[in-house]
Amino acid sequence: MTEPEVSQPAGAMPAGAEPAGYDPAAIERKWQASWEGSRRNSPDLAGGANPYYALMMFPYPSAEGLHVGNLFAFTGNDIHGRFQRLKGHTVFEPLGYDAFGIHSENFAIKLGVHPGELIPRNIANFRRQLQRAGLMVDWTHELSTTDPKYYKWTQWVFLQLYKQGLAYKKAAAVNWCPFDKTVLANEQVIGGACERCGTMVEQRVLEQWFFRITDYAGRLLANLDTLDWSESTKSAQRNWIGKSEGAQVTFPVLDAMVYGASTATAGLTGETSTAPLAVSVFTTRPDTIYGATYLVLAPEHPLVAQVVTDEQRDAVDTYVAQAARQDLVSRKTTKEKSGVFTGAYATNPATGSPIPVWIADYVLMEYGTGAIMAVPGHDERDHEFATLYQLPIVQVVAPANGEAVDVRAAAYTESDAGVLVNSGPYDGLTVAAGKAAVIGALAATHAATPVVNYRLHDWCISRQRYWGPPIPIVYCDACGTVPVPESQLPVLLPNIDDFRPDDSGVSPLARHEEWYHTPCPQCGKEARRETDVSDTFLDSAWYFLRYPSSDRDDVPFDAGLTKKWLPVNSYIGGNEHAVLHLLYSRFVTMVLKDAGHIDFEEPFTRFRAHGMIVREGAKMSKSRGNVVNPDQYIDEWGADAFRTYLMFLGPFEEGGDFRDKGISGVRRFLDRLWKSVHEAVAAPAGDADAEVLRKLHQTIRKVGDDIAKLSYNTAIAAMMEYMNAMRTGERVPRLAEVKPLVQLVSPFAPHIAEELWSVMGETRSVFDSGWPAYDASLLVEDRVTMAVQVLGKTRGTITVAKGASQDEALAAAMADPAIAKFITGAPKRVIHVPGRMLNVIV
Ligand SMILES: [Zn+2]
Ligand SMILES: [Zn+2]
Repeated sequence: MTEPEVSQPAGAMPAGAEPAGYDPAAIERKWQASWEGSRRNSPDLAGGANPYYALMMFPYPSAEGLHVGNLFAFTGNDIHGRFQRLKGHTVFEPLGYDAFGIHSENFAIKLGVHPGELIPRNIANFRRQLQRAGLMVDWTHELSTTDPKYYKWTQWVFLQLYKQGLAYKKAAAVNWCPFDKTVLANEQVIGGACERCGTMVEQRVLEQWFFRITDYAGRLLANLDTLDWSESTKSAQRNWIGKSEGAQVTFPVLDAMVYGASTATAGLTGETSTAPLAVSVFTTRPDTIYGATYLVLAPEHPLVAQVVTDEQRDAVDTYVAQAARQDLVSRKTTKEKSGVFTGAYATNPATGSPIPVWIADYVLMEYGTGAIMAVPGHDERDHEFATLYQLPIVQVVAPANGEAVDVRAAAYTESDAGVLVNSGPYDGLTVAAGKAAVIGALAATHAATPVVNYRLHDWCISRQRYWGPPIPIVYCDACGTVPVPESQLPVLLPNIDDFRPDDSGVSPLARHEEWYHTPCPQCGKEARRETDVSDTFLDSAWYFLRYPSSDRDDVPFDAGLTKKWLPVNSYIGGNEHAVLHLLYSRFVTMVLKDAGHIDFEEPFTRFRAHGMIVREGAKMSKSRGNVVNPDQYIDEWGADAFRTYLMFLGPFEEGGDFRDKGISGVRRFLDRLWKSVHEAVAAPAGDADAEVLRKLHQTIRKVGDDIAKLSYNTAIAAMMEYMNAMRTGERVPRLAEVKPLVQLVSPFAPHIAEELWSVMGETRSVFDSGWPAYDASLLVEDRVTMAVQVLGKTRGTITVAKGASQDEALAAAMADPAIAKFITGAPKRVIHVPGRMLNVIV
């Protein structure tokens, strides 16, 4: 790759003149124009050697403009990327916009503007702000998820999942916000209310599209061990996937007639199936089965209607209706337990005893089998419920050390230190041995199957909204569900005025007749389009694949470029995306690999979550009116000072406190750098001071080590310390002392670094100058020069570390040919006066 020459600044300063003041606005404009004009930040993706993909999570382009939190994250990534470039990599640092979704749409509704008009405006403003910040972004590969050229391929990704049998439609209970008129994920419901608008959330049943991410649960979990990611992010993913090992156990329902009631199904046709009803539960504690004193079904469990007795039917119906009005999250977290007896009994397959079947809203249809075996002696929730309804509580686990516990007072949940009691043939076994023994025995009679269960659900990707990519599916009366052929992509999102959602739960696209009706791609008869759009998380689950190939219309990603640039070397983003975005991206990558489109299955080799910044100790928010507007600070202090200050606030992975006074210290450092370079250029040439040089090499090592581990604040502190050492007593620094400092500063403050680099007579970009090397021999804190005698005659001097041993001093002497030539033969004796003299007797 040939590097274009950097344009030279006009009016280079004549030697000896008083340095002109540092004017960030002027030099930042100048260098940004130079980078753009020379396409300096657009690497040769096909030819560049040593590729390094430095990715940051792309922003949602809000109408308020760039948030300082965005800039904190992007600057951190930019420094890492520029550092890698100085280390000799071809670095690709792309940026785009995650611009579909409910945030944008709701804001558009609020303003009464069409999102199709609002979003391009927001993007233009974001781009302007980002460019001012001096990021090393390759703007020629910018993308927006709302661009048909992009979402054509998002729809293609959907079709790949569909082809693999990983996309399916099913009716499911969902959280519904009546205000936003949309489905919410469980994590968007806070205390029963919508996270966005605070409206109480309802439960609805809707037909929706899902991706079978649960098929990949084991792989998503196992691969985490191979990734260089923030530990907190990995553990969040592990918890989210939530693997548990146990058994599915079957409890046959006793014939209700035994208890004097008719079953709900009896007599409907006179020839109902004779297959016995059974309740299937998943348990991680099969060892406690002797303590299972009742069963609980989710209120919406299909068995409820079949097992309920006539006596209990009214109470059960009332309870079921009431549970249906609650959202799923409050049901999981609500403190007060409630439930109703169905009147039915089932046989505990281990004890052979009948136990009652209840329904309760703390059991969710979405988890496991929608039914549990309750072991109140050893489970807190079950204990609470059993106490409330006076159900039997039996102890089946006891402390191995013989201590007494009263399970009537509280559940004994310890499992590692427990042994089984009151458990028939299993008494005395440890919990672990008991689990295996019970599963084995029940499996032999087909009453249990060992299973691995995951907390992870399939990914619901349907949104009954307007602002997203239409799901590329057509419904035909003759052919059924028909995927839109790839050749007919994109399914364009029609530009409609009436994009507001309504209460029907059906996407606004359904109201757009000429779009809704379409010929069937298979038989050509009139058919109907799917009117749901896909989740924004699908847009962002593959964007990193698109960046290198964003100029290609014929493929989602070029095979050669993808092989060369992916997986991503370094990914930086917020920990709020530790679970969903990062998990979905991993899943989609695995699916594309399995379909043969790519040859790797983990998209991000290294991921680091950045911290959050607060202002004067308080969280920044619009309502507090304390949001930092980057434009204002860049106007006043310059982008270089602003970037460096953001990184100086605290450890990048922890964040820090933005204080208005703090930025002046960083600006003073850049002013001193400016002055130092100009003075050094004007001063007569000369060697660097030995002490300053040692400090320099220590600083080079520290800054390099710190940047590599994103410890930017300590790197900046080290450079400031070096500045003080170099300028002790306002001495004029030597060029050799200040030049490497400009290279060290350049990732943080790229504009001033480019300017000063050219002031020192360099014609190429500082970013092509290479990262300065340090001389390890200069790192030693204190060194002494000592005389070396051979047979009492002084033959030269050596410089060694203060406190060097006799062997080290001798080795240094032997390493100097001028001395070594006098040492003929093995030394007979050595006289060493540490720090002063070495006398070698041969
Ligand atoms: Zn809402
Ligand atoms: Zn058809």
